[in-house]
Amino acid sequence: MKIIVAGTGYVGLVHAAVCSEYGHEVYAYDNDKEKINAFSSGQSENIEKYVNEPGLNNIIRETLGKYLFFCSDLKSIIEGIDVIFLCLPTPSNLDGSTNLTFYNKAAENIAGTVAGKKDKRRIVFVNKSTVPIGTAKHLKEIMNARGVQNFGVASNPEFLAEGSAVDQARKPDRVVVGCDCKEDFKILRRVYSQFVNHVRIKYIETSPETAESIKYIANTMLLTYISFWNGVGARIGEKFPNVKINDLRLGVTSDGRISTWGSFVSNGAGGSCFGKDIASLIYQMRNVNVSTKMLEASYEVNEYQKIYLIDRAIDEAGFKFNNKTVAVLGLAFKKHTNDMRDASSIKVIESLLGKGVARIKAYDPLANETAKTVLDSSKNILFEKIEYYNSAREAIEGTHALFISSDCEEFRGLSRTIEETVKPPYLVIDGRRMIPDFEEIVARGFDYLSVGSMFMKSN
Ligand code: NAD
Repeated sequence: MKIIVAGTGYVGLVHAAVCSEYGHEVYAYDNDKEKINAFSSGQSENIEKYVNEPGLNNIIRETLGKYLFFCSDLKSIIEGIDVIFLCLPTPSNLDGSTNLTFYNKAAENIAGTVAGKKDKRRIVFVNKSTVPIGTAKHLKEIMNARGVQNFGVASNPEFLAEGSAVDQARKPDRVVVGCDCKEDFKILRRVYSQFVNHVRIKYIETSPETAESIKYIANTMLLTYISFWNGVGARIGEKFPNVKINDLRLGVTSDGRISTWGSFVSNGAGGSCFGKDIASLIYQMRNVNVSTKMLEASYEVNEYQKIYLIDRAIDEAGFKFNNKTVAVLGLAFKKHTNDMRDASSIKVIESLLGKGVARIKAYDPLANETAKTVLDSSKNILFEKIEYYNSAREAIEGTHALFISSDCEEFRGLSRTIEETVKPPYLVIDGRRMIPDFEEIVARGFDYLSVGSMFMKSN
């Protein structure tokens, strides 16, 4: 099939690459020319600057110029196209509603270009972006208004998780396709032939509105489950003596009905989707006069969780942040990615700076460069106090406290580095329970405060 993927971000680039692996002729289109030039080079460092996903570079290198093409001129690639995937940003407005500015602009541009194409072939416009329920219909109206002929619209939400996006695009749990006519289901079955009738992967055909709803319910369910463990499980471990959070988790999740995923307590879930998707669903449900108390609670627990360890450090450990130097390890919202959208580290750093710290020494194995843009001092003069380091050891040197804000595997071995690099009195704040041998460092005079456990004062 001849496919255009519009928007070459985390979703679009991975989708385009994996479709090209299956021998489709894929044109990855973006209005950001710099990005397109970087991807067209096929060079790892140029690709990773924008999207850093394990395995992605290899696919691009293998299919570039054969099945995969990059382009910033839609008109030059429009003839003979079967399917256009829309993988555009859909951020939040301040009131929680979905901001469709990027989406509408791209859809209008696509509509104008398709209306002018010469061939009469049917074309299906597919929403991969997460968009409010009813947006496929809205897309149809845009196409009709521009006089586009012989087309269909579909919803095909994306469920990949960053950090393992390529693996999940190759082997998803399910593929959800929402169309309103048989012809379009048939076209999309040809695109996804590797998943249709698969023994494990569920290929679900439904209405566009159901497909749109599936994405919102799935994401808010995941965040609600995380918030349950953070807002209830972690609090039990922190407030009731002798409750061991790891045993509690194991005991509960040994029940086959209860998921292990999401049960690891943390300083909140970040990423580009959870926060904005739950906010959007709250907005959509309020519009139809439905109570949203449960979703609001999930959202609030998650936001509070991002910074509450700093309050605990002050209240329980008696730590005074004013004029101190603090190391922050883990800037991306999780391991294996350089994406910092909605990362807990941003809230942590803002909160620390608000408490008057003199310096922040930051380190992330992949996201230091992203952080320099996200935490640029033109946005907040206090960000000038952040320095970036190439290793955890260098970041920890000369600090009074350490905050671990993501789950990078290399942090598991930190206890030895801490012992060798700094001297007590010293506070370790562990937002991800990354230090399994915390009792050892406490025995050596370090204070340890982690999510899900009572504060451990050194002897
Ligand atoms: P992104 O910001 O990484 O990428 C979006 C791309 O669209 C950018 O490259 C941007 O330059 C391009 N773009 C913007 N306006 C354009 C236009 N007018 N024409 C052409 N290109 C344009 O976003 P993302 O993370 O890939 O997310 C895309 C959508 O997928 C969102 O709706 C998001 O909610 C959803 N989603 C994201 C994830 C994820 O983990 N990132 C997972 C599932 C679903």
